[in-house]
Amino acid sequence: MADRLAKQGTALPQTRQTSTLHSAKSLIKSAVKSWNCQWLLRLSLGKNWESLVSRGPLNHNLPRTVSVAALRMRTGHEYLASHLHRINIRPSPECQLCGHSTMNAEHLRTCSAVDHSKNYQKSIFKEAHLYWLALHLMAQHPRKKK
Ligand SMILES: [Zn+2]
Repeated sequence: MADRLAKQGTALPQTRQTSTLHSAKSLIKSAVKSWNCQWLLRLSLGKNWESLVSRGPLNHNLPRTVSVAALRMRTGHEYLASHLHRINIRPSPECQLCGHSTMNAEHLRTCSAVDHSKNYQKSIFKEAHLYWLALHLMAQHPRKKK
């Protein structure tokens, strides 16, 4: 494929530009980065990890508990009822804490069984707090039989 593209490139009109090695490297890096982003976006469509690409990488300076919670929630591998139901561990995806909805990362923002009173400057910290609180409550409450 690279050979075919290179051959096509030779047929394109060439502009005469003087550039330094540094600017040429910078242009190539930028083009490769752009191409990789587009490739990853196409590859991730419909996958659990699509949000990792579309929302960008996580901040590397976050505390581990926040990073782990954010990664799990972004990928859908968060060990909440919907995920546990998908992997045949729970009989229902329903929230075992309030029983009103499918228990996933979105539901935690409105679940009546978790305490929403704590305020954080960044929403990622609040989501991590709600996530770990929900997992703690799930561990305390026995599983409902269906
Ligand atoms: Zn709930």
